[in-house]
Amino acid sequence: MNLTVIGTGYVGLVSGTCFAEMGNNVTCIDIDTKKIEALKNGQIPIYEPGLEPMVARNIKNETLHFSTDLSKHIKGCEIAFIAVGTPMGQDGSADLQYVLKVAEQIGQHMDSPLIIVDKSTVPVGTADKVKETIQGELDKRKESIPFDVVSNPEFLKEGDAINDFLKPDRVVVGSDNEEAAKKMRQLYAPFFRSSMDRLITMDVKSAEMTKYVANAMLATKISFMNEVANICELVGADVNKVRIGIGSDSRIGYSFIYPGSGYGGSCFPKDVKALKRTAIEHGYTPQLIGAVEDVNDRQKMVVAQKVLNRFGENLGGKTFAIWGLAFKPQTDDMREAPSIYIIKHLVEKGAKIRAYDPKAMEEAREFYLKDVPNISYFDSKYDTLKGADAMILLTEWKEFRSPDFNEIKKQLNEAVIFDGRNQYNDVLLENMGIEYYQIGKSR
Ligand code: NAD
Repeated sequence: MNLTVIGTGYVGLVSGTCFAEMGNNVTCIDIDTKKIEALKNGQIPIYEPGLEPMVARNIKNETLHFSTDLSKHIKGCEIAFIAVGTPMGQDGSADLQYVLKVAEQIGQHMDSPLIIVDKSTVPVGTADKVKETIQGELDKRKESIPFDVVSNPEFLKEGDAINDFLKPDRVVVGSDNEEAAKKMRQLYAPFFRSSMDRLITMDVKSAEMTKYVANAMLATKISFMNEVANICELVGADVNKVRIGIGSDSRIGYSFIYPGSGYGGSCFPKDVKALKRTAIEHGYTPQLIGAVEDVNDRQKMVVAQKVLNRFGENLGGKTFAIWGLAFKPQTDDMREAPSIYIIKHLVEKGAKIRAYDPKAMEEAREFYLKDVPNISYFDSKYDTLKGADAMILLTEWKEFRSPDFNEIKKQLNEAVIFDGRNQYNDVLLENMGIEYYQIGKSR
């Protein structure tokens, strides 16, 4: 099939490349000229395991193309995916300006029957808005070209996006037109070779809602467990044991119940907010969803508070080694990462920071922590420790799991570790003479 993917970010680039891998002819479009020029030369703007060779292979096979010209590539295309960003608006709702701008351009330039797929995460009712926008442009051109708008929310996880896309748990297709749904089934058939049961079709509004509910549910598990961790610490229980105790119940499960420094990234914070906003707009006050958000905001500061409790409110003259900046491992994404909030708070209190992350340092330096003074970046985790008063672990990268604790002890001014992801064995560390602070268990 001839496909156009509009918006070549995490979702657009992964989706477009995986569709090309299955033999479709795909053009990925973006307004970012620098990004498109780099991609044409096989340079990937994001860190995503396995993506680079797949892009290179499909460029070589001429199944994957990159362009900034939507007007040219929408012509003759069968399915156009909208995969642009839907950032948080001022009032917490999803900002649809990029989605609707693309819809406008599609209406201005399409020349044959087309299925338009909303792959961006968008609130209930957006497909209707996209439809109206396209129809409005066709009316201006006095053209009558049939088209359908389908919702196909994306569930990939950054860091394992290729696997998620090629072997999905499920694909949700929301369509109010059986012909469009049939075409989407054909497109996804190669991803479900044994059974198509995992391609779930439904009406458009339910599909739009499904994506928000999935993210809100996962965020709820995280906030619930963080709240439990804080209580455990007060009553003298060990959240690490409680986690295993409850996770072994198959109705609960082990995933998403790790206590830590709160959720971040480009999806959970904005999607939880947008779902809350949608409910409010419809006259409903969502108490639980609001609480999920409040617990998360507070949780981001738990590690910083532990540092202040240990070293005092004035951190002037103190230096901290930070291990991990990305919002989670296996990505360079820094959007809404807890590290941003924690580092800013420590610097405001007078601290100096020595930071290391395997992939996210450029993002941090150039965008997210650009204006924050007193941060130095290092190429190795051990280099951050020299002359620091404590080490603070904020992202659970594999390379941080089993470090040389003797080296850490040797390099730090004081042998103190704050672990925002509960990676280490407290008994082992305390026996080595390391003062070890974690989430959900007091020392
Ligand atoms: P992103 O910010 O990485 O990429 C969006 C891209 O769209 C950018 O490259 C931008 O230049 C481009 N763009 C903006 N306006 C454009 C236009 N008019 N024409 C062409 N390109 C344009 O965003 P993302 O992380 O890929 O997310 C995209 C959508 O998918 C969001 O709604 C997000 O919530 C959703 N989503 C993201 C993830 C994830 O893990 N990142 C997972 C599932 C769903």
